[in-house]
Amino acid sequence: MAFLEARDLVVEYATRRGPVRALDEASLEVAAGEVVGVVGESGSGKSTIGVALARLLPGNARVSSGDVLVGGRSVLAMGDEELRALRRDTLGFVFQDPIGTLDPTARIGRQLGWMIGGKPGDRELVEHLERVRLPDPERTLRAFPHQLSGGMAQRVSIALALARAPQAVIADEPTASLDASVRSEILELLVSLTREAGTALMLMSHDLRAVRRFCTRVAVVYGGRVVETAPAQELFSSPQHPYTRALLDAAPGAEAPGETLRPIAGIPPVLHGAFRGCAFVGRCACAVEACSVERPVVHSDDHDVLCHLAPVKEKAA
Ligand code: ATP
Ligand code: SF4
Repeated sequence: MAFLEARDLVVEYATRRGPVRALDEASLEVAAGEVVGVVGESGSGKSTIGVALARLLPGNARVSSGDVLVGGRSVLAMGDEELRALRRDTLGFVFQDPIGTLDPTARIGRQLGWMIGGKPGDRELVEHLERVRLPDPERTLRAFPHQLSGGMAQRVSIALALARAPQAVIADEPTASLDASVRSEILELLVSLTREAGTALMLMSHDLRAVRRFCTRVAVVYGGRVVETAPAQELFSSPQHPYTRALLDAAPGAEAPGETLRPIAGIPPVLHGAFRGCAFVGRCACAVEACSVERPVVHSDDHDVLCHLAPVKEKAA
């Protein structure tokens, strides 16, 4: 059963050039304890799904239709108190820029104390920092965010995200701003700590190798819709959606020795309203007549593919 769920979610941002439809009936589920990778080109809508799950969308955003559910409860229907509890106790967040998300005016120990609540002693605070393998936790407790390296700050962010033992963590590009040398270590840490605790992890990433290595399931987002979802090994070995195939072909490391990368021709769409057909139609080498006028719907069991060419299968009970 899904613990996190976006159901036919439509989100629009008001901009000076009119509304931008970031999500266009996006549906995605993350079960308890599962590690789900969310991939897609820039602007496809990955971050919007993540913040919508906690109703943390910016002021210019509007949920036009659909729903988001956490633990089976509609987040859109929650009152202020329930929403506060959801963000404080049930969900944890790790963002791309750790130093920017920490409070620059407060020492790390103080910020960790706020998150834990009550009046934790130094020993308890140190234990939280030891868990994220910070080399000198006593010293880090006394530090301000600007005194930390990016890698250390992200370890602190992970400690903060896990401090109240949340049931799910939403990590949006948690290693994108870090030096290549520490990326893998930090991701490994995040995945191992959430696995140990049985916490669900939703990982938005451009790093397909990392997603393949760490995630149990993958959701591919394009034009504000989740166009393919499958167990990770199956998605990488047998991608069904033409966009997923193009994305995997374009990824660093996909090229054979001596071959150059094949970028996906064309640019992703910016939608200003509901898209009539398939949003990939302008870039898809397999497009047929129906693709411009009919929206593809899900055609599968545990491998969902939104494409007119996908084989029709019964949905598992
Ligand atoms: P990236 O990988 O670059 O983070 P993404 O897949 O997470 O991209 P989103 O950030 O969710 O995509 O953006 C989806 C669409 O919504 C894009 O067209 C983006 O320009 C637009 N958008 C996102 N945030 C805002 C905002 N605050 N105001 C206006 N438009 C926005
Ligand atoms: Fe290509 Fe049509 Fe499938 Fe879209 S629905 S991915 S345009 S074949």
